[in-house]
Amino acid sequence: MKTSFFLILGTLFLPLNLVSCSGNNTNEEEINAGMDEKAILEMGDISRVATFSYDSAALSEDEIAGLYLMREEEKMARDVYAFFYAKFNVRTFGNITKSENQHASAVLRLINNYGLTDPAKPAPGEFTNQELQELYNKFTTEAITAVDALKVGALIEETDINDLMKLIAKTKNTNIQFVYSNLLRGSIFHLKAFTSVLKVRGVTYVPTVLSQEQYNAIIGK
Ligand code: ZN
Ligand code: ZN
Repeated sequence: MKTSFFLILGTLFLPLNLVSCSGNNTNEEEINAGMDEKAILEMGDISRVATFSYDSAALSEDEIAGLYLMREEEKMARDVYAFFYAKFNVRTFGNITKSENQHASAVLRLINNYGLTDPAKPAPGEFTNQELQELYNKFTTEAITAVDALKVGALIEETDINDLMKLIAKTKNTNIQFVYSNLLRGSIFHLKAFTSVLKVRGVTYVPTVLSQEQYNAIIGK
């Protein structure tokens, strides 16, 4: 009798334990594994920009301002995620930090190839653009938990997507369009990753930069 009672208990509780312990980890692991693959693909795409031809006289003031903004916006994402990775040890931040480093480098290649001066400061957490400096300070001081940090991640990606869509619509320069389109694809992927990890942790992300319709369309892609 004793044996069968424990057998029943075992069969009742063991699967439940397996689901509740490894279920979340597996999901978060799957999200991270998918990101590793994506990062490799992305790198191959963006590095093609080095082979393009450049005419520095061809850029408008708006295009130059856009490059300066995106260079530091990508660096801001990288620096915030590196800070969060060190603080919260969530692997998603480690993966996306690498990807943002590639994004910042891709914009730097455009800046260099067009003979412009790089606005980015070498030290992490330091920015020429004061709005980005204030955002960095706010994000890194206000995130108390890993969930706060993941929400900040999603907010940064929403902002990135919004800015990139506007800049792509405003330029006819095919080199810039190529790089921004790749950055946009990356940002969409990052937004999906952050919101998926939030979901695994029981949080439904509500967009604040994009409209709910835009957000649904992007997340559904
Ligand atoms: Zn990026
Ligand atoms: Zn991103």
